[in-house]
Amino acid sequence: MKAGVIAVQGDVSEHATAIRDAAASHGVDAEVVEVRESGVVPACDALLLPGGESTTISRLLGDEGIDAEIRDHVAAGDPVLATCAGLIVASTDARDDRVDTLDVLDVGVDRNAFGRQADSFEAAVDVTGVDEPFPAVFIRAPVVDGDAVGDDVEVLARWDGDPVAVRQGPVVATAFHPELTGDYRVHDLAFFGTDRAADGEVTA
Ligand code: GLN
Repeated sequence: MKAGVIAVQGDVSEHATAIRDAAASHGVDAEVVEVRESGVVPACDALLLPGGESTTISRLLGDEGIDAEIRDHVAAGDPVLATCAGLIVASTDARDDRVDTLDVLDVGVDRNAFGRQADSFEAAVDVTGVDEPFPAVFIRAPVVDGDAVGDDVEVLARWDGDPVAVRQGPVVATAFHPELTGDYRVHDLAFFGTDRAADGEVTA
């Protein structure tokens, strides 16, 4: 399996570890490549769109021509995990003209929705398809507007009533950072689609 981590901005090493761990739990050897230019995504079986700054990420994806390649990847039904700023970039409506969205996830997003209350926090969140609460780290996180969720979008998790994890076809997106706690179950859900206990035991 070849997994591409979009690396136009920000640190990607934790995601690479989580992808390798999730793959290894299935006996799969994952080659993780960092994507900074066009021509790499078409060779990837799975893609990860990480956190960072959505305005910067979307601009660089457009400049490098990676945006169209990600849309083609989704159109082919190949899996994507988008986290935090990645969720904003993947959405259809970032409610900010500086973000040129990829339009692969039919949701409206409020950027920095928690900013006024708390910059960063960790919470145990129930995620559909993950059998025990997930330790979710929110860092200047967005929320999905519950009134702006497309018919084809499944809400996988809520925090304080707002959707914070969603799925549409091959795209799974989280408002939180699933890569920071050494727990690879969200990566597993996105890329292998299994229900999996925290101890690695497959339950469904
Ligand atoms: N607040 C950032 C944005 O709007 C996202 C933060 C993150 O990815 N941790 O792009």
